[in-house]
Amino acid sequence: MPFVFDFDHSHRRPPMELKDLLGGKGANLAEMTSVLRLPVPHGFTITTDACRAYMEGGWPEGLSGEVKRARVRLERKMGKHLGDPVDPLLVSVRSGAKFSMPGMMDTVLNLGLNDDSVQGLAKQTDDERFAYDSYRRFVSMYGRIVLDIPGEAFDTLLDEAKERSGSTTDADVPVGQLQALVFAYKQIIRDHTGADFPQHPDAQLQGAIEAVFGSWNGPRAIAYRDHEGISHDLGTAVNVQAMVFGNRDDRSGTGVGFTRDPATGAKGEYGDFLVNAQGEDVVAGIRNTEPLSALKEKFPKIHAELMAIFVRLERHYRDMCDTEFTIEQGKLWMLQTRVGKRTGRAALRMAVEMTTDPGIRLTRGEAVQRVTAEHLDQVLHPQFAGTGHAVLTKGLGASPGAAVGRVYLTADDAAAAAGRGEHVILVRTETSPEDVHGMLASEGILTARGGLVSHAAVVARGWGKPAVVGAEQVRITGRSFTVGATVVNEGDWISIDGTAGEVALGQVELVEAKASEEFETLLGWADVIRKGHLKVRANADNGPDAANGRRMGAEGIGLCRTEHMFIAEDRLPIVRRMILAKDTEAENAALEELRVAQRADFIEILKAMDGLPVTVRLLDPPLHEFLPDTGELAIKEATVGLTAEEQALFDAAKQWHEYNPMLGTRGVRLGVIKPGLYAMQVRALMEAAVERVADGGKPVIEIMIPLTVTREELALARSWVEAAVTATLASSPRATRRRLEVLIGTMIETPRAALRADEIAEVADFFSFGTNDLTQMTFGFSRDDVEGRMMSAYLEKGLLKHNPFETVDADGVGELVRLGVSRGRATRPTLKIGVCGEHGGDPASITIFADAGCDYVSCSPFRVPIARLSAAQVVLARAAQPASGAKKRAPARKAPVRKAVAKKRPPAPKAPVRKAAAKKRAPAAAKRAPSRKAPARAAAASKKRAAGGAKKRAAGGTRVASPRRVARSRAR
Ligand code: ADP
Ligand code: MG
Ligand code: MG
Repeated sequence: MPFVFDFDHSHRRPPMELKDLLGGKGANLAEMTSVLRLPVPHGFTITTDACRAYMEGGWPEGLSGEVKRARVRLERKMGKHLGDPVDPLLVSVRSGAKFSMPGMMDTVLNLGLNDDSVQGLAKQTDDERFAYDSYRRFVSMYGRIVLDIPGEAFDTLLDEAKERSGSTTDADVPVGQLQALVFAYKQIIRDHTGADFPQHPDAQLQGAIEAVFGSWNGPRAIAYRDHEGISHDLGTAVNVQAMVFGNRDDRSGTGVGFTRDPATGAKGEYGDFLVNAQGEDVVAGIRNTEPLSALKEKFPKIHAELMAIFVRLERHYRDMCDTEFTIEQGKLWMLQTRVGKRTGRAALRMAVEMTTDPGIRLTRGEAVQRVTAEHLDQVLHPQFAGTGHAVLTKGLGASPGAAVGRVYLTADDAAAAAGRGEHVILVRTETSPEDVHGMLASEGILTARGGLVSHAAVVARGWGKPAVVGAEQVRITGRSFTVGATVVNEGDWISIDGTAGEVALGQVELVEAKASEEFETLLGWADVIRKGHLKVRANADNGPDAANGRRMGAEGIGLCRTEHMFIAEDRLPIVRRMILAKDTEAENAALEELRVAQRADFIEILKAMDGLPVTVRLLDPPLHEFLPDTGELAIKEATVGLTAEEQALFDAAKQWHEYNPMLGTRGVRLGVIKPGLYAMQVRALMEAAVERVADGGKPVIEIMIPLTVTREELALARSWVEAAVTATLASSPRATRRRLEVLIGTMIETPRAALRADEIAEVADFFSFGTNDLTQMTFGFSRDDVEGRMMSAYLEKGLLKHNPFETVDADGVGELVRLGVSRGRATRPTLKIGVCGEHGGDPASITIFADAGCDYVSCSPFRVPIARLSAAQVVLARAAQPASGAKKRAPARKAPVRKAVAKKRPPAPKAPVRKAAAKKRAPAAAKRAPSRKAPARAAAASKKRAAGGAKKRAAGGTRVASPRRVARSRAR
């Protein structure tokens, strides 16, 4: 296989399909040249094979010869020679991997110029200014990109030259200054490298090609691939292309154009251009660009030609394309095209509109595949309202959504300000575990350092808090920070957009997330596609959340956490009375009060989800979480003393204290110790159901026992539930009873439960994988300790590929899920199986759950649309490769127990399937950490509670619940 292909080489397949070999840029250049026959300057592509060979064993044998022959072919086509002192050919050397990768090597333009050929160029073009302008660009680019010399060295000199000559733009710098610049630039190169700037074009070319190869393993490129989940083995291609000159004169220029508006998705061209400029002048913001509409006035013929090309590109790629073009003395050249990046809003609009576009005619399935979870994430979070705000600085958008607040620069100050009721943005150079309380108290987080797996990024995503990280211009000193000359003091308002990575001064107006018509349309199509495959439910603990989940398209509630009903301020004293009860009578009295309160909650929830299944989980957290903090009470005891009530609570708290509460008396274990509790909850629920039926509703109830480990445990809990159901229904009319559906099942959230799923299924009507706890227990990671303290180090060092609390661990936890499904169904083929961990809203995890054979996923209402989309995309991906998908599911359901288990033990093939599916999505979205509304809300609620607690304390009461503890309870 050759290492080098000309753009006009006739490949057996359309070159646009050869991105693996030619890289994205090379593949599309070849497509435009050889298939579309657009005006593209000639050139050739050195393949990714060559790069891989280079990485393995240095400069590949035979490559020099191939490059040389390709160069000769190019020179022949152009009628010019590289380095010719009379009429030189110049080329660009452009990197281009399979996936577009910011952070890779830049492009070197004007290669082939040297002290002799620059004079030839000047004579040929009769334009000395142009020739030296090209040369100074080349020398500085070569220095910066190939020789790794910091760009400022060159930029400062250019700025000085401009000042000296009084020029406002690069194009006005007189030739004398340009010549002096070239001289000075060469001196910089000598100083930095100890060698002269290479004059020979062969040396220049080889240097540039090697630099592109080498840039594949540059730290920025590696970090980017890690984040995007792109393989490190792909390598990059190198494109060598004859130069065309937008900086030739005023009949020349360069620009970028989109075939539709990438921000809104609106039809019609969109883009910028600059007269008399080269390459990246347009994006560099050196001069003010003009919109493409201005092109129409200045170069009407070119504009018309470009528009015709746009139409062809869209029809050919069946998608919105972005392009780079250059005009050289009135002639249009196309330099690049690719399917363009777009905002979420634009992605939705374009996907829907292209189904009816006669030139494109997307199928609905294709439209659904065009939208990524990240796109939906964008439209589902509040964002800056318009483009009117001035961006102070930019960083990495690490956790989506926008936030507005006052600046605080330490975690303590942030927490204190939030305690006073202020909205806070915590600004830190970087964050560490000591900052967690301040992060929790903030609306959003801004850091000056750190990448997408930094502490701040990981923690913020875990909580669904907007965050911008790595805003490198931010310098913090004492009680203020600066960005250049701007000083922002503690208490000043700023706004951050964690989707776009933008930071702005003041209170930027936000737009609430709102669903467009296209959003509804596209998700409707997704629902049709996933019908009969994977259902999507919401995790909701109260009526409003349930209603919201339903609006978002949830097909039921997969997890209703009853403890949230207990933590409410009016309930907590009753719960405490129950815990403190000295005898059964007092305990029952308290339970009775709770029952009445819970019944009202359940009615609301069942009403909101009428006709759809509602999975109610009986009480899960350890009792001490409802008791005051022992540390605080101990201090109070030692100082001002305790009231009698406080003393009782203190004693109880000490009595219920556990060393490892996560592994302690919680879930069904609590039920075993306090059986009255579960009976009370079931009665409250069933009474609510009866009342709903009486009101003409259709409640569908699933009662779920948490943290089961053995069959016997579940059998016992089930017997209480059944007894309570029967007891409650005994007094209701038979018609009511007949209209009530009640299933009793369990969560599978311990490794043992997954392993013994066959036994457990004997007494369960359904399973729901609690993948948060299952992850904690499988890894032995306490989420609250690990996520803040060590997760970022693990991710940075590559010890983990993803945060397993964001994307389910496919090999370990995923294996337990697969095992649990197959063993459970071996016992009970009709077993209904869902997932209710936060992973249920994460696209990569959804693929794993769908492949395991789950019936539904359940996630926070906010993530429901993303889950609907992802579920449909899984179905579409499976249809594209029917064999692997079908094989995996079918046998699990039918085969008898042991055999099925033995045979089914799914071998490795999971991995490739997952990868294939992941590839389908835009890489950016694939690994994007989901935001979690639920924890955000829990955090917000906890903040409120903490504030309430503070008030109470002041009034001599006891603390309600510490944010820390509520934060802990979120993980279950
Ligand atoms: P990137 O991938 O960063 O966009 P490119 O290889 O596309 O890098 O090149 C950077 C800039 O240089 C673009 O504006 C491109 O249009 C311009 N450019 C690249 N090759 C040529 C060429 N042969 N003639 C003129 N301009 C070029
Ligand atoms: Mg480009
Ligand atoms: Mg749990």
